[in-house]
Amino acid sequence: MYILGIESSCDDTSASVTCNSKILSNVIANQEIHSKYGGVVPELASRAHQQNIVPVVQQAIAQANITKEELSAIAFTKGPGLMGSLLVGTSFAKSLALGLQIPLIAVNHMQAHILAHFIQEEDNKIPPFPFLCLTISGGHTQIVKVANYFEMEILGETIDDAVGEAFDKSAKILGLPYPGGPLIDKYAKLGNPKAFTFTKPKVGDLDFSFSGLKTAILYFVQKQQRINPNFIKEKLNDICASIQFTIVEILMDKLKNAVKKTGIKHIAIAGGVSANSEIRNRLQLAEKHFNWTTYIPKFEYTTDNAAMIAITGYLKYLDGNYSDVSVTAKARLKVTE
Ligand code: ATP
Ligand code: FE
Repeated sequence: MYILGIESSCDDTSASVTCNSKILSNVIANQEIHSKYGGVVPELASRAHQQNIVPVVQQAIAQANITKEELSAIAFTKGPGLMGSLLVGTSFAKSLALGLQIPLIAVNHMQAHILAHFIQEEDNKIPPFPFLCLTISGGHTQIVKVANYFEMEILGETIDDAVGEAFDKSAKILGLPYPGGPLIDKYAKLGNPKAFTFTKPKVGDLDFSFSGLKTAILYFVQKQQRINPNFIKEKLNDICASIQFTIVEILMDKLKNAVKKTGIKHIAIAGGVSANSEIRNRLQLAEKHFNWTTYIPKFEYTTDNAAMIAITGYLKYLDGNYSDVSVTAKARLKVTE
């Protein structure tokens, strides 16, 4: 059975075809245009989606080596995300499903980040229920208890910035282009994580806060620059390594608290920041140190992609969980909705 997934919640236009739980194609058009503005410009994102959606979908179907008439259903991201961006994917999915007279399936983007773990590959581990998922992305930071595919509970989440924002805003302070998360990761590999220390925020056991850390980094860098105007240039690797170390320490502390509280030792990560090499290393070490079983997604299924939408669509298709054409995009949508 072939399902087409369409993702357009932010600045990546993506389409993917699955055959049951295997991925046949996962085409992603990144929008370079935002990097010079230091963040995603919603109006430009929406316009770029309109230009990309037809060729991206065509390419996904061609790469899967099928015709559109062979599709069983169309799954699309209903939310959360930027309204103008979501509307492009939503309207396109609706018209294609209507034209082909096949079911339309609305997908929650945050559930999809988690359910990407159920993509079947040759060598991957699939988490058993219940498991804990640390969702770390550009807009979210949550610890979710996953009791079943569509039975999720938020155990803790950020009270201010998301962890992806903490990476991107720190990178901006250092004069790095958007999105800065991957660049911090890159430079951190060459630096000393203990070079500088930043205080960890004090919030509830399972909650997160990153806005104070961002301010602390800003004041620290400004102060050092006044003393030595070449501070960032000379110490970039050490600064990045220290920022990354602090953020990953926070994430690991919270995961340990969640394991203690729930007794669940199957730990997955999801979302764009799960591409980060330090969090991946630390989770692998936790298998040995804490006897956890960890589930780390492949790189291409961490940041926004349509494969995760298609696999979620497939799981909903099995339940007959379809939408009708009156379904609308929703900019705000909880992982539990
Ligand atoms: P959401 O899913 O919450 O709606 P989003 O879709 O915009 O947000 P994702 O695409 O899942 O977010 O993740 C993007 C974020 O991941 C960006 O903040 C980016 O900097 C960050 N990121 C990507 N790779 C890395 C990395 N290697 N290290 C740290 N951060 C990273
Ligand atoms: Fe996302």
